Amino acid sequence: MIEELFTDLFRIEIPLPQSPLKTLNAYVIKDPNRNLLIDTGFNRKECLEAMQDGLRELSVDLGKTDIFITHLHADHFGLVSKLTGKSCRVYFNRPEMELIESFEGFHTMIEYAGRNGFPEDQLEAALSRHPANLYGSDWLPELSLLDDRDTIDCGPYHLQCVSTPGHTAGHTCLYEADKKIFISGDHILDDITPNIQCWMDEQNPLKEYLESLDKVAKLEVDRVLPGHRRLIKDHRARIAELKDHHKQRLQEILVILEQGRMNAFQIASKMTWDIVAESWDDFPVSQQWFATGEAISHLKYLEKEEKIIQEEENTIIRYKLRNP
Ligand SMILES: [Zn+2]
Repeated sequence: MIEELFTDLFRIEIPLPQSPLKTLNAYVIKDPNRNLLIDTGFNRKECLEAMQDGLRELSVDLGKTDIFITHLHADHFGLVSKLTGKSCRVYFNRPEMELIESFEGFHTMIEYAGRNGFPEDQLEAALSRHPANLYGSDWLPELSLLDDRDTIDCGPYHLQCVSTPGHTAGHTCLYEADKKIFISGDHILDDITPNIQCWMDEQNPLKEYLESLDKVAKLEVDRVLPGHRRLIKDHRARIAELKDHHKQRLQEILVILEQGRMNAFQIASKMTWDIVAESWDDFPVSQQWFATGEAISHLKYLEKEEKIIQEEENTIIRYKLRNP
């Protein structure tokens, strides 16, 4: 499905089979000199076909097209190796390029998940089904790195990078100030809440995410073009909802911890999730994984706010209220 949103700016809907996200919004700006494609899809047949069909229908020549990728997740980055030609520039952010380059497998995440109470025998299964393992890019193209406030010009569109860490470490949006268009990747979504995961002890991604939301709220925006689902008109109202959602989650965890000391996996099992399943034990293991990562990001935030205390015993990490 293709839709012209603004003059020469199109949305191509890319299916994401078996993903609860359902589809990805790829955006294309057509320009006689160089076109710009924003985000790509999973590295799998259905995504490639939809992208090729869309580009063909728009008469977009990939040989004259640069690609901007908002963040490293496979539904945005995965298809890039199938689309880049010789002269294609691939714009990306520095923090995530460093993560990709230093990536040595999932073992540090697996170890950390185990210390947070995730059942060890489930971990391999959880990660073998992780989209990064199944639908990642075949190889890493040469990347043109952009920092906050760097610009890309494409036709009448002057796009400025807005660094928005939180959903991922280097997540970057694009802002067209004159036209008040904001291309948000997974930073702001409608209908669904961007997931904020934490799989490293010293990080506080939820704090970064909330700060990034405040940063974007200051911009003048008429239309948000998100990475999934519907376009958003009132970005400040949506940002307020997202902030409220996380405030409620933090509160929920404090109430759960009134029952006593627990690890993150146990806490996640007691939180409310938008998943159709009879009970926590019926959650697919991949959803338990995402839920636990989300619980940890909230626990890290509460710990840094000095509301809770982290304790470690025989390598297992548990949390308790600071003032029970
Ligand atoms: Zn994402």
